[in-house]
Amino acid sequence: MEKSISARAMTRDGSAMIIAADTTKIVQRAREIHGLSKTMTAALGRALTAASLMGALLKSENNTLTLQFRGDGPAGTVCCVSDCFGNVRGYADNPAAELAPNNSGKLDVGGAIGRGTMYVIKDLGMEEPYVGLSDIVSGEIAEDVTHYYAKSEQVPTVCALGVRVNRDYSCKAAGGFLVQLLPFSDDATTDRLEKNISEIQSVSGLLADGMTPEQVIGKVFDGIEFDMFDSREIGYRCTCDREKYYRALLSLGKDELTRLLQEGKPVETVCSFCAAKYVFEQDEIKRMITEAKK
Ligand SMILES: [Zn+2]
Repeated sequence: MEKSISARAMTRDGSAMIIAADTTKIVQRAREIHGLSKTMTAALGRALTAASLMGALLKSENNTLTLQFRGDGPAGTVCCVSDCFGNVRGYADNPAAELAPNNSGKLDVGGAIGRGTMYVIKDLGMEEPYVGLSDIVSGEIAEDVTHYYAKSEQVPTVCALGVRVNRDYSCKAAGGFLVQLLPFSDDATTDRLEKNISEIQSVSGLLADGMTPEQVIGKVFDGIEFDMFDSREIGYRCTCDREKYYRALLSLGKDELTRLLQEGKPVETVCSFCAAKYVFEQDEIKRMITEAKK
């Protein structure tokens, strides 16, 4: 698939809603930016996909969702940010972490993440962001997201994620889906849903076989009447600009800026999400020092 796509649908009886996404291109872009190892392509790829699916649940256009795994594994902190459309960006502390395959011969995402806490921070345009958290149960990301919704938001949820990595480390297929039950869901519908989901071996396998997110939804909702809401193109998208880094440097204060000036060379900042470099010349640092005085 040339583009990353996110699609949404709901069962006609109002029992459940689903978001499904093909994030192959997004994960491929993340791999290029961060030079991800095989294991980390799967780890950050799954986290980016989860953030995109969760972000698509946000209500309004300027809302953002941050999904953060602070585990004790070699990956370090993994952090992803999504907008309400499912456009995402992310990074891991240690993008080169590589582990031997796990007992089932799969890329050891759980081992890379380790155990610790998963955070969901929603900036809903209020004064304070919403912060939810739960324990990392396996580090495999999908299970952790399912657990988070049950524990922290009390919403019955099924999350499935998958990333397939080629021999040359490029991303063969990536994507997933997020199903949430709505209040007063119908038992017959949820039983059928459960059966359908249990029959799906691997969501990345379906996408690798050429299925679209809409077709994945058709499989999850097989035998259940449903309506497609929308389907949209999503991408790896950073929101950084020079002004943001200017303000960040300014916030260091007069003393720290003076110290930077005394080093006698331009100050270079690098965005951890997209690797964009912003260089601030000495003259600009001087100007910042006078601005910081005010
Ligand atoms: Zn950036």
